[in-house]
Amino acid sequence: MSLSSRPKIELHLHLEGAAPPAFIRGLAKEKNADIGRIFDERGHYAYNGFPEFLRVYEAATSVLTTPEDYARLTRAVLAECAEHGVIYAETFVSPDFCGGRDVAAWREYLHAMQEAAAEAERADGIILRGIVTCIRHFGPEKARETARCAAETAGDWIVGFGIGGDEMAGKPGDFAWSFDMAREAGLRLTAHAGEWGGAQSVRDTLDDLRVERIGHGVQAIDDLALVDRLAEDGVVLEVCPGSNIALGVYPRWRDHPIHRLRERGVKVTVSTDDPPFFHTTMSHEYDMLAEVFDWDDGVFEDIERTSAEAAFCDKDTREALLKRLAGR
Ligand SMILES: [Zn+2]
Repeated sequence: MSLSSRPKIELHLHLEGAAPPAFIRGLAKEKNADIGRIFDERGHYAYNGFPEFLRVYEAATSVLTTPEDYARLTRAVLAECAEHGVIYAETFVSPDFCGGRDVAAWREYLHAMQEAAAEAERADGIILRGIVTCIRHFGPEKARETARCAAETAGDWIVGFGIGGDEMAGKPGDFAWSFDMAREAGLRLTAHAGEWGGAQSVRDTLDDLRVERIGHGVQAIDDLALVDRLAEDGVVLEVCPGSNIALGVYPRWRDHPIHRLRERGVKVTVSTDDPPFFHTTMSHEYDMLAEVFDWDDGVFEDIERTSAEAAFCDKDTREALLKRLAGR
């Protein structure tokens, strides 16, 4: 089976960060919005280094202001995912950007995204679920409001709660209240850690937020006792190698620890994070992993099964995914 046609499962994808450049350009034009120079001559997002990446990301996503924009964004993102064989994705969505953490407004955005996702499922068979994500550098107070939005809308579609944003802002424990609230509402938990904050940030996140998945988590490799703990406890890492390379967490693909983590028994999965910003796709991630680490069909099969098992969807959806992966 060619790598691009393999059925893939993506667990770590920011909806705004997956916005195709052509979609953002079109929307900016429609709205007559000045987003500055954020594209290169080929029409890709262009930036040099992390601070500029943040500026370009903010400028691009500033045109997304209404539920209808988010419906169209959802459709554009899912069309792109489906093209690379993705059959199931979980996307980070944030009431901070969708209605300013007001529950009623959040429901409108959510409804728009869900409708668009249902349409894509009918058209391309791709399934989408949402993980409400608070923004770490907005602070614990706002995270509580975000957790409230999450708890109010927990169900078949909003299946998880997480935290993204600047990993160096505050401590994981500052957000324990929000994670407790989400857990009580029946949401499954994940958190960005160990992308920038070192192995200790992964430890603190596990201890203080009691999550079952970690977004990135790759810096755990610097603490082998922690790696063994991840393996023993079955903590799943949402690894986004292309993102880590693009942002300079690791200089080259062959320096990336995904292979070593897997060899030591950690459950790793593969995702794209903010794909067009990192000039990647799921097919590209697969191609690079095959080329650099010699991963074959057996490894990818294992990764895909691990991803289906770690997905936050309900049991019936998981069973259906496992069947599709097995080609039944
Ligand atoms: Zn991320």
